[in-house]
Amino acid sequence: MKFCVLAYYVIDEVSDPAKMIKEHRAFLKKLDSAGRIYVSPEGINAQLSLAEGDLQAYLDFLKKDCFFDAADVKVHHWHEHPFAKLTIKQREQLCALDTEVDFSNRGEHLSAHEWKQKLEARDEHTIVIDVRNNYESEVGYFEGAIKPDLESFREFPEFAKELRKKFDPAKTTVLMYCTGGIRCEFYSPLMKKEGFEKVYQLHGGVIRYGIEEGNHLWHGKLFVFDDRLVVDIAELKNEDVGHCRHCGCESSTYYNCANMDCNLLFLSCRECARKNKGCCCEACIVEGRVRPFSDQEHPKPFRKLPHEEKLKLSGGS
Ligand SMILES: [Zn+2]
Ligand SMILES: [Zn+2]
Repeated sequence: MKFCVLAYYVIDEVSDPAKMIKEHRAFLKKLDSAGRIYVSPEGINAQLSLAEGDLQAYLDFLKKDCFFDAADVKVHHWHEHPFAKLTIKQREQLCALDTEVDFSNRGEHLSAHEWKQKLEARDEHTIVIDVRNNYESEVGYFEGAIKPDLESFREFPEFAKELRKKFDPAKTTVLMYCTGGIRCEFYSPLMKKEGFEKVYQLHGGVIRYGIEEGNHLWHGKLFVFDDRLVVDIAELKNEDVGHCRHCGCESSTYYNCANMDCNLLFLSCRECARKNKGCCCEACIVEGRVRPFSDQEHPKPFRKLPHEEKLKLSGGS
């Protein structure tokens, strides 16, 4: 059985979120589906998986409502549902920034192809910023990107302030990207608020870029907020740019520390994971409440513990 993993969002006023949620629930209940869909008065953010045979039915369902015309639905393929269940919920904010965002003042959207051209033609007055969290850019990034050491969405406004001290906002061209594009919708107005005049954002994010342009100028892999954790952005196998926490060799495989009180998300090669029973450090092996280590090629994130909470807080994409 094969599955499609879909990611899309729409930033636009939702007059009746409860109604949209109800319609989605009723329709998806009929399909083989899983995922996370969040609806707020400011839009919808959806990451879900469907049996391949159900994809067209869902796309047709979206087509019936012109609200979804603005959705750029990105599709990957996987051998199973990368989500444990289907969650469709209302949220106050789509992106937990805790600050007002002026969507009328966003950056200019670039198609994957335009983005590639801009990257190729960049000069010394152009900066590329990876607006994702640190554990995401650790396994993959665009060549020459600034990778801020952020742990959550909420830290971005502060980073934007710091950036204006280092780069003259009037002279600097900003190219920004994230996983699927939604974070840039929230962050580009913040950059403009800080005075940056020329702000461009990659429409559809790294996912769309990989589908259309392959991995040209991209190094490594892509972190995703589901059971897959890390995927190739293009058909070709992508290089490993991350490093094993234990031995330093190249690896893009994330593990949650097997010590349930730690649960740290860390990179490890398979051999070190075996040797350390899935733990992040010596102390965790010796002192922790260690759950049995299962030796898998694609370890899944451990659920119902801080890491899962953290994924939820970050919101995904
Ligand atoms: Zn290792
Ligand atoms: Zn640990």
